[in-house]
Amino acid sequence: MEKKAQYFAPSALEEALKLLQKHQLTVIAGGTDLLVQNYEKLPALGSILDMSRIDALKGIEVGKEVSIYTLTTHAQLEAHPWIKEKLPFLAAAAGEVGSPQVRNRGTAGGNIVNASPAADLAPPLISLDARVFLQKGNEERIINLEDFFLGPGQSVLEKGELLVKVVFKPPPARAAGCYIKIGQRKAQAIAITSVAVLVEMAADGKEIADIRICLGSVGPVPIRARKTEALLQGASRANLPLKEACRILEAEIAPMDDIRGTAWYRQQVSKTIFRRALMQALAHGEVR
Ligand SMILES: Cc1cc2nc3c(=O)[nH]c(=O)nc-3n(C[C@H](O)[C@H](O)[C@H](O)COP(=O)(O)OP(=O)(O)OC[C@H]3O[C@@H](n4cnc5c(N)ncnc54)[C@H](O)[C@@H]3O)c2cc1C
Repeated sequence: MEKKAQYFAPSALEEALKLLQKHQLTVIAGGTDLLVQNYEKLPALGSILDMSRIDALKGIEVGKEVSIYTLTTHAQLEAHPWIKEKLPFLAAAAGEVGSPQVRNRGTAGGNIVNASPAADLAPPLISLDARVFLQKGNEERIINLEDFFLGPGQSVLEKGELLVKVVFKPPPARAAGCYIKIGQRKAQAIAITSVAVLVEMAADGKEIADIRICLGSVGPVPIRARKTEALLQGASRANLPLKEACRILEAEIAPMDDIRGTAWYRQQVSKTIFRRALMQALAHGEVR
């Protein structure tokens, strides 16, 4: 006889982890990816673990480190007072996701675990050197977000493992970031290309002390442009090697043709938005 699918909605994280050890379950957070992707074959999802009642997985903590718990919605991230004030580029990225409906249901953790190369939160979080905390039973592992993604829809997350939170150190006061996304429309549009730039100026304001650059939708996973970063590290603000930076950036990304845009278009536009994001981050840094 066919086994009936079960629905679990625990309110404690420990219970959820136990259930995952005991049963084969599909985890659901906001459902905005999972239910849309499986719309025609919902029974194939089998038994469900609905996380929405687990309060311990909701919210944002700000201290020596910033912890964004997995069930934090895009709307909550966008509206969080500290994030808005100190990391407006991360708030802006959350505000770029879908529509108000999607932002009210879709979660930060779902955005990461879904592992789309176009996920809006990945570039800013990778530029913040974020780490993800994963838990399976009693075992916790911590992985750099950059290393979490393996390919479109693929990650290092194991069966029965939950993403608990994303954690990063708040950048220094002299740092400022910018996130730019290019889509086919202003809303309900997946990125054709996107870039996050986080710049920290030296104390004299003349040189780039540190820079992190991450692009989305121009490869199988979000791409950290480390060679471009290396060129710009220590560069003088008055004499930025922008042409050379764009040449290196172009070689670091690996876009492809799809229904939203050609590889060539992505390559050209990525360079433009990178320059724009760098200039805007530098300007924001100045006014802080
Ligand atoms: C109309 C529409 C527009 C959209 N526009 C955008 C957009 O502009 N930009 C963008 O980035 N995304 C967009 N999305 C995609 C989606 O809304 C986001 O990726 C959202 O953040 C997913 O979160 P969720 O909570 O709904 O995930 P769910 O659908 O619940 O889950 C997604 C996947 O992650 C797994 N999962 C979720 N949480 C955990 C966890 N804590 N531990 C382990 N596994 C977990 C689930 O099992 C599932 O495989 C859009 C979706 C729709 C339907």
